Amino acid sequence: MRQYAFGRRLIFSLVLATSTLFYFGCKNEANITTPAALPVKLKVPVFDKDSAFAYIQTQVDFGPRVPGTEAHKRCGDWMVGRLKACGARVIEQPFTGKTFSGISFQARNIIASFNEKVRPRIILAAHWDTRFIADQDPEMKNKNTPLPGADDGGSGVGVLLEIARQLQANPIPNLGIDLLFFDAEDQGGEGSDPESWCQGAQHWALHKHTAGYQAKYGILLDMVGGKSPRFTKEGTSVQYASAFVDKVWTLAQRMGYGNYFVNEVSPAIIDDHYFINRMTNIPMIDIINRPTNNEFVAHWHTLEDKIENIDREALKATGQVVLAVIYREANGDL
Ligand SMILES: [Zn+2]
Repeated sequence: MRQYAFGRRLIFSLVLATSTLFYFGCKNEANITTPAALPVKLKVPVFDKDSAFAYIQTQVDFGPRVPGTEAHKRCGDWMVGRLKACGARVIEQPFTGKTFSGISFQARNIIASFNEKVRPRIILAAHWDTRFIADQDPEMKNKNTPLPGADDGGSGVGVLLEIARQLQANPIPNLGIDLLFFDAEDQGGEGSDPESWCQGAQHWALHKHTAGYQAKYGILLDMVGGKSPRFTKEGTSVQYASAFVDKVWTLAQRMGYGNYFVNEVSPAIIDDHYFINRMTNIPMIDIINRPTNNEFVAHWHTLEDKIENIDREALKATGQVVLAVIYREANGDL
């Protein structure tokens, strides 16, 4: 994802605030569906942080997952295999992307559905590509090198693959879950069009994997694996789904994760959820590490984004909170 320069970010926030708050209030009422009541309430499974960590390690071991490379293809194939092994119906959605310098590449979104006939549906999302250049690296010689992407890309995917495993072991009969793995999120250019980022999310928004698709809401995970993360209430999420953000953060705090899920609003960013919110009727929030309100984690888009900087406790907090959200949603307790 990208950071807005302060002036642009402020303008962007104001535009969003004036144009979308009312819009959101109107458009979602029609989309609210309540899960069918269950005879017995479901237990929230225990998220396995070591399993999630191992899924990140596997991704990193493929090498940087830059669209168009062999590592990217092999990692995508492995993810498809993992998701099928978890009992999901998997759809691969190929598309042609473009770097900000205009070079075309082949990319694919990967969509894994649980209970595909059941309504309502919930989306859990992450991007699975890694950035082709470490342009934020302090060392000049590293700036054109692809980064390992343990956190940026790898962490969200690792958490979602563990959730897929849990969904198979602990089925939710009255809720449909779609795991959306967006490609080509991170191939954009600083200072170029916002549309150069999040190309997979834009493609999916225009070409949903099933006709007439709708979901009650979505949760995007991006850079959730850094040491002692600080998950602020990110601006775009607040502007489109403020009540849902508060619900998730309050739940996280009640679960004992208030040191990570903090009650601070941080400036809006361009991430996959930005396009989903703008281009569809699905409100989507972003759980993302914002060590200070204006900056991403220090290893963001540098060669330091490696497995050694992944914190299992951060994975645990994120994964456990997301599991609590969906199982409570099914129980009618959210
Ligand atoms: Zn990134």
